[in-house]
Amino acid sequence: SVPAAILSALSAAARGGVLFKGGAALERLAEVKSFAFDKTGTLTTGKAEVTRVLPVEGDAHGLLTLAAGLESQSEHPIAAAIRRAAAAQGLMPKSVTEVTSSPSEGIIGKCEGAQVWAGNPRMLARMQATEDHPALAELADGAETVVYFGTGPRLLGAITVADQPRETSRRGLEALRTAGITQFRMMTGDRRPVALRIGQSLGFAPQDIQADLLPGEKVRLVDELAREGPVAFVGDGVNDAAALARADVGIAMGAAGSEVALQAAEVALLSENMERLAAAHHLARRTARIIR
Ligand code: ADP
Ligand code: MG
Repeated sequence: SVPAAILSALSAAARGGVLFKGGAALERLAEVKSFAFDKTGTLTTGKAEVTRVLPVEGDAHGLLTLAAGLESQSEHPIAAAIRRAAAAQGLMPKSVTEVTSSPSEGIIGKCEGAQVWAGNPRMLARMQATEDHPALAELADGAETVVYFGTGPRLLGAITVADQPRETSRRGLEALRTAGITQFRMMTGDRRPVALRIGQSLGFAPQDIQADLLPGEKVRLVDELAREGPVAFVGDGVNDAAALARADVGIAMGAAGSEVALQAAEVALLSENMERLAAAHHLARRTARIIR
């Protein structure tokens, strides 16, 4: 039977919006030596906003209607931002069918008989398209999250999105540091300059910020961290599911996070608040001392 101390810790954590799938997860959280965090939707709000629409062919409205069509099924925060931007301008998304997604790269679909796609530089390379175009020159510094759009090898344009760190992320990380955690990582599929800007604003050391990652690379980095002791991974996306499953404690964002991430995790952070996570960690440690 589950000790009363654990039951009461589980219910206290639940009141703070941190749901454990069982007492064992709470006990493991007490032992964690390092915390790894996804960026988009996890440390950031996930309420990204479209900042620029840069067509290479056609006009901005054309690009946005295609983009909104392609992104109509995706649960990625970038997709939601693009749909909102199109709606705000009263644009009807184009009809795009046969959409498949490639986590941490982008999506591919069919529009008016032609293959269309959206994604990052990796997707661009896969399609043998190039970003070498005067309209996109200002994106070269890499300071913004960029989604490229194209059809076959033809680049149609790019849309930039900006996302802000959650106010609670910095304070939550600080509380974990105060609790004696010394190993932190940020692991993201986004580009390095964006990752550095957001990560450093939250107190991550540059060498602890890992960017341009595919889902499998997040898993490999979790394995690497695990050599030093138990690892907690916090994430929200389909691209985080494998890392959540591999970590000693997988923690999924509960409200806006994807279904797949929640299933792979053993803790749901319904509050989406890292301060609450730090409080649950504190509670887990106190409980571990009591039952020992
Ligand atoms: P993170 O690991 O920070 O949560 P992701 O791995 O989910 O970031 O995304 C990494 C990059 O992959 C994004 O910055 C974007 O360029 C591209 N991407 C992922 N999903 C989509 C999508 N639905 N539409 C367009 N681009 C996408
Ligand atoms: Mg994410």
